[in-house]
Amino acid sequence: VFNFAAGPAILPENVLLRAQSELYNWRGSGMSVMEMSHRGKEFLSIIQKAESDLRSLLQIPPEYSVLFLQGGATTQFAAVPLNLCTPNDAVDYVVTGSWGDKAFKEAQKYCKPKVIWSGKSEKYTKIPSFHDLEQNPESGYLHICANETIHGVEFKDYPVPMNKNGVLVADMSSNFCSKPVDVSKFGVIYAGAQKNVGPSGVTIVIIRKDLVGKAQDVTPVMLDYKIHDENNSLYNTPPCYGIYMCGLVFEDLLEQGGLVEVEKKNKKKAEILYNAIDGSNGFYKSPVEKYVRSLMNVPFTLEKSELEAEFIKEAAKEKMIQLKGHRSVGGMRASIYNAMPLAGVEKLVAFMKDFQTRHA
Ligand code: PLP
Repeated sequence: VFNFAAGPAILPENVLLRAQSELYNWRGSGMSVMEMSHRGKEFLSIIQKAESDLRSLLQIPPEYSVLFLQGGATTQFAAVPLNLCTPNDAVDYVVTGSWGDKAFKEAQKYCKPKVIWSGKSEKYTKIPSFHDLEQNPESGYLHICANETIHGVEFKDYPVPMNKNGVLVADMSSNFCSKPVDVSKFGVIYAGAQKNVGPSGVTIVIIRKDLVGKAQDVTPVMLDYKIHDENNSLYNTPPCYGIYMCGLVFEDLLEQGGLVEVEKKNKKKAEILYNAIDGSNGFYKSPVEKYVRSLMNVPFTLEKSELEAEFIKEAAKEKMIQLKGHRSVGGMRASIYNAMPLAGVEKLVAFMKDFQTRHA
């Protein structure tokens, strides 16, 4: 089965098989990772290796902390303003889709955010260029969603933050570790694990160290970056099994040659799929402007929208599942994260051509 779900999503088969082989007895310890103390030497070795492999993958500079947290990216929508500004601070949000919008709305509770660009009137099919943004020089940070999972728009270049602390914050949930990223351009990167790097339940935060330790007084302990940073993500019981799985994925990505190689594969998969859509004489349509199309989430519609349900049903019969678009936008969406093999995309494209021949 090829699973095109947007998240929780497909994981590499070899990673799942390895986890299965270690499920009852992790490397001779006599324990499953689920049964270990998070303070024992076994789990410490797991979390430390996961962090160091992630640091290698993304070449994270030493002046950044890596935190393994819980609560999903949604919790970060609150944690970011609670940690980076006071209730009276202005902050800038670029809203390129539903997730950016949710982040903005949550921030309204904790500071004074302003939407400085929104793609809503154009149904979130665009990404602004740096020059479209009127940033407030007094803003505490500039927030973007690097890849909008529902709408399929992805930043190809990141805006330079023109605010007082030079802080760019990015929700990278759905394109985390899909390509190299210059971490030094960001103040904070956060991502839920359940698309490219592991199971839901783990949220990764990469934060410039000088931004840690400024949380608002009301910030709950579980949302305070300083508490987690000082305790190496072990202030309380972390999502141990999820962190272990992320660690296996990081190892796998390094074995594939790192993110430069991973990006090449992702570009190839996306190219094949977008070419099939564009080459269908309008039978299939991608709503997204070409230059900002996501390498990870590919929404598309059928000119004859009445055939969409049939498309999804027939694809499922052919063992290509979870192709239904998000309920807010309809149509189809193929999520082609790192773990989707090229063969999965080739099979989908062959099916699309066959479906078109039968229904054109
Ligand atoms: N941000 C983006 C880009 C997402 O795709 C999602 C979930 O799909 C979220 C945030 C919310 O993540 P979570 O469900 O982990 O809170």
